[in-house]
Amino acid sequence: MPSDVSSEQQFQNHTPMMQQYLRLKSQHPDILLFYRMGDFYELFYDDAKRAAALLDISLTKRGSSAGSPIPMAGVPYHALENYLSKLVNLGESVAICEQVGDPATSKGPVERKVVRIVTPGTVSDEALLNERQDNLLAAVYMTAKQSFGYAYLDINSGRFFICEPENAEDLQAVLQRTNPAELLYSEGMALLDIIEDRKGLRRRPEWEFELDTAQRLLTQQFEVKDLIGFGVHQANNGIVAAGCLMQYVKDTQRTALPHIKSIALEQNDASVIMDAATRKNLELTQNLAGGFENTLAAVLDQTATAMGSRLLKRWIHSPLTDQTVLNQRLDAVTEIQQLAYGLDIQDTLKQIGDIERIIARLALRTARPRDLARLRNAFAQLPELHNILSDFKTRKLNQIKEHAPTFPELQSLLTQAIIDNPPVLIRDGGVIAPGYNAELDEWRELSTGATNTLEALELRERERTNIPTLKIGYNKVHGYYIEVSRAYSDKVPVEYVRRQTLKNNERFIIPELKEHEDKVLGSQSKALALEKRLYEELFDAILPYLSQLQSASVALSELDVLTNFAERADTLNYCKPTLAARSGIHIDAGRHPVVEQVMKEPFIANPIQLNSSRKMLIITGPNMGGKSTYMRQTALITLMAHIGCFVPAESATIGIVDRIFTRIGASDDLASGRSTFMVEMTETANILNNATEHSLVLMDEIGRGTSTYDGMSLAWACAEYLALKLNAYTLFATHYFELTQLAEQLPSVANVHLDAIEHDDTIAFMHAVQEGAASKSFGLQVAQLAGVPKNVIKKAKNKLSLLEQQGQAATTEPQNTEHPASTTAFATQQLNLIEPENPLADELERIDPDSLTPRDALALIYKLKALA
Ligand code: ADP
Repeated sequence: MPSDVSSEQQFQNHTPMMQQYLRLKSQHPDILLFYRMGDFYELFYDDAKRAAALLDISLTKRGSSAGSPIPMAGVPYHALENYLSKLVNLGESVAICEQVGDPATSKGPVERKVVRIVTPGTVSDEALLNERQDNLLAAVYMTAKQSFGYAYLDINSGRFFICEPENAEDLQAVLQRTNPAELLYSEGMALLDIIEDRKGLRRRPEWEFELDTAQRLLTQQFEVKDLIGFGVHQANNGIVAAGCLMQYVKDTQRTALPHIKSIALEQNDASVIMDAATRKNLELTQNLAGGFENTLAAVLDQTATAMGSRLLKRWIHSPLTDQTVLNQRLDAVTEIQQLAYGLDIQDTLKQIGDIERIIARLALRTARPRDLARLRNAFAQLPELHNILSDFKTRKLNQIKEHAPTFPELQSLLTQAIIDNPPVLIRDGGVIAPGYNAELDEWRELSTGATNTLEALELRERERTNIPTLKIGYNKVHGYYIEVSRAYSDKVPVEYVRRQTLKNNERFIIPELKEHEDKVLGSQSKALALEKRLYEELFDAILPYLSQLQSASVALSELDVLTNFAERADTLNYCKPTLAARSGIHIDAGRHPVVEQVMKEPFIANPIQLNSSRKMLIITGPNMGGKSTYMRQTALITLMAHIGCFVPAESATIGIVDRIFTRIGASDDLASGRSTFMVEMTETANILNNATEHSLVLMDEIGRGTSTYDGMSLAWACAEYLALKLNAYTLFATHYFELTQLAEQLPSVANVHLDAIEHDDTIAFMHAVQEGAASKSFGLQVAQLAGVPKNVIKKAKNKLSLLEQQGQAATTEPQNTEHPASTTAFATQQLNLIEPENPLADELERIDPDSLTPRDALALIYKLKALA
């Protein structure tokens, strides 16, 4: 790019076409400009280099302008959608510049204009969107005091929300939940590391984040005096973010947005709160590898429509605390199940399809002819759906019926207006049905009816000239002509004017034919212009129904999800959970919804009982015994109950839960430069700072990422804090057996373990949860199963039995001794025995015995055991 593209002086040195390009480019400096030239969209200078790298297309040069060659890359116009979808997925935005002038009449370069701007967060083209996933645009605002405002918009439905995350962790959670395709932030904002790596980041000028401007923009958009009615007026930070977002949408869409007509504040206490780590660890809609397989959503989603699928995922990410709403959902699922109407409803919904996005495209006036045909088909299904819904008594299903009325006027309008199978685009016409508009029919008749004139003319001339091969033809360049083969050239009448001479034929024109040509071409273009106008008028006719249509699509999406829950409950043998007003979790024969699907062997169902006198379970058992599975299934069942879904269990009573936390697995967050242990501790800190007595906390193998001393002490202290101070419902899986002593010391703590049986040197995992602590860890057997060489296992066994003889004394000794020094000495001695070169030996030398608690010492013994 020349250094200062806005300088007219600079432009002067360029060719006229490049001047035009540079002027357009200067209005869109930050995004790729696709400049239409004939059958290609071309990119120049830096844009060309970037696009070549991003799209893997070749970088060439074009002539030269201002004395140097112009880097250029291009894509053929018919493949535009493919390239756009690639760029949008990469988080890039594109300005599409078309030729709008008439090449025949323009002096210099044809007039060009940017006709649309495609950005990842605002796309509405079906081809560029993943149909079963929300595509959101978001904006974040941060004040000098580090308080936040966050706004997000789904332009394909009109849903517009704000919230005010209390701190960076909250912001991270909402970012993870909403996962915006594009995120706006102020250029003055210090970039937080949680934002930095996101795709589709857009820096916006600081003045776009201004409260007064934001309020003005939003009240204008919603056509209201103030924002009080939406209950957002006190969320100033959120409004500021929403204002910037609104400005951006206006800038890029360049059209009215009648479907965006309200905004709402997300209330924290309305949903079960989950932090970013929990959403990730529970693999709700994305597995740990970033894919969709083996997620809760993958198991639960058999929805009939894409809009239903999107709603289901939103529900999964925002479990509710309001039991009245949840019971309405659960009752609706029961009723659908009992009346066995699930299949009928799903069949009808499949015919209805994704009307939510069609309606948004109608509002944006980007709907295509087939969208209208699909909408018409959807309307045709509604009476049948109403029939089915009439049998339902539950409140939720009745509400759905009310909100999704039939639309007879629109149905008949679209039936009359649009042909059965319209073409993809309105561009070439042929969309509006015959009989819909008298004038259009006339023009069409003229252009086609006139074809009969041609036949008559041909016949007449053939007879008059006595030339049997005479025929009338048409081509784009020469228009209509009379063709005569050379053999008859001498018979051609004098008034025939020669247009073209070919090898075997000659082509002529006569005034009558020319007249006809003008009439036909005239009527064709008149018909097309009228057809386009009528098409636009259809949008106007549907516009007054917009909000009704929007609430219908919401209701139908809900029906889809509820019917889907009924189907899943039948197919996967789920039961209806009971929501209790007290807190506590009681599950009989619970299963892990995902693990039970992927396993070939039968899944072992397990119970769990948590209540005010049994708040924490210390879970022990061998590696691979099923501890993580057991904990996660408890969290998932609890979550499922809080979205109104049946659960994989024989019975489940789930009380109030305000938050779900997990600290699971040791995943290095290398991208952000945080070590495993740092990640583990950050998550732990978040839990300890935020869990309440109504929270469900999952702690898996905490303390593994550091030395045994540190780890065990931390695990112990965390467990004690959770039990004593926070009194949270906690599942605490650990390999530190010492922690099983907590059950003796604290009344609300109990031990459970996952059983395994040794059999001929190998081990069978029973996966059954039993009361009490595990008796041993089966480390060697697991190692053998994993394929550790036999010799190593044998050696380890010898060491272990040696240790067990000596360790028997040691495991009891530290509990009684007041002199940890002797334990350290013992530990050092043991270590030397097992592994003289181990650096831990040095560490042990340096330990101050006075700082070592008996528990730490004990932990050391176990660490040594593990080494064996
Ligand atoms: P741990 O956390 O104790 O190491 P996991 O929970 O990761 O063990 O379980 C290990 C494997 O055992 C799982 O991948 C699954 O295949 C199997 N498993 C776990 N729980 C059960 C169960 N209840 N029934 C059947 N198989 C199970």
